[in-house]
Amino acid sequence: MATQHTSENFISSPELPAQPGTQQRTTGKLLATQGYVVGVEISGSGSRQSVALADLNGKILYRVRRPLEHIPDTETVLRLLDDMLVEVMAPERLLDGRILRVGVAVGGLVDATRGVVRTLHHAQGWDNFPLQEYLAERLAIPCIIDNNANAAALAEVQSGAACAAAAEGSPRRAERIVLYVGLGRGIGGGLVVNGQIYHGATCTAGEIGHMVVKENGPKCSCGGFGHLEAIASAQAISRTMIGLSIEYPETEAAIRRVTGARAERITAEQVFQLAAAGDPIAQGVVENVHTYLGMALANIVYLVNPGMIILGGQVAQAGDLLIAPLQARVSALCLPAVSQSVRIVQSQHGSEANIVGAVTLALQDV
Ligand SMILES: [Zn+2]
Repeated sequence: MATQHTSENFISSPELPAQPGTQQRTTGKLLATQGYVVGVEISGSGSRQSVALADLNGKILYRVRRPLEHIPDTETVLRLLDDMLVEVMAPERLLDGRILRVGVAVGGLVDATRGVVRTLHHAQGWDNFPLQEYLAERLAIPCIIDNNANAAALAEVQSGAACAAAAEGSPRRAERIVLYVGLGRGIGGGLVVNGQIYHGATCTAGEIGHMVVKENGPKCSCGGFGHLEAIASAQAISRTMIGLSIEYPETEAAIRRVTGARAERITAEQVFQLAAAGDPIAQGVVENVHTYLGMALANIVYLVNPGMIILGGQVAQAGDLLIAPLQARVSALCLPAVSQSVRIVQSQHGSEANIVGAVTLALQDV
């Protein structure tokens, strides 16, 4: 089935000059006052999908999640998405019009200009998959895909932490240059400049999880060593904590206590809490996160000079246990003139940032 663009709902935006390399994004300014958008979230391992129906204000009206216990192949994910889309797009939910656009937030490298998934680091079989075209043809609805941290960054700017700062009348206009860091199973970054996602020359800007922060450091999901993700992601924090605890009975007991004897389920937030409660092993793990994440952020601050850095994902659930020492670390590493203008805050959309990001993508002027 061919993609049908309906001209009464979409026009190109004459006030915005075309940017080089973005011509293949075919959706235009959304002028409709009635109808819906759909957001789709695909995690970096392909094992956590969610699909949401939202109104044109971005309010999520209906949502389905189908988490899997294993890492599925591409076909399984696409079949699952089909089922979820059928459920979300059921005619009885669409009383106020039809679905105008679909936004997809993908936990991997995405060529947003061409709508192609380049790769998922935590799953096989996605290399160069033309997901945007696949969904647009299948659903006969214009579709836009991007990396999940980029999508989450946009959501935080339009309706989250950076948006709240603007509403408070922040004189520093912190919302103009915003870096979002998603500290989940992996680490992703998204940079929003003057309300637009900064993609870079080949759509890989913001892949800060793979910045080298420690020579000869631990192995990363991408195969490299000493990358930020291998030290400060939720998975790295939990794994390191469990690995180190084997030699320390008191720490092992503390882990069993907070996890109900399911040590393998310890969360990054629990590691931060154990550290705050005085466990020396947890303190070592947390210290490493502050050191290397602090170093990475300080380096980014020198290059980009963001007004705000927003931390999201599971690790950010640790709140001030993560953020206050990190702010101090960045201040210590940067010249005052550089660091005093940057505020590090927690994501407002929290664990919903990616799906809200997918909906935000769908609502974009592009
Ligand atoms: Zn890496």
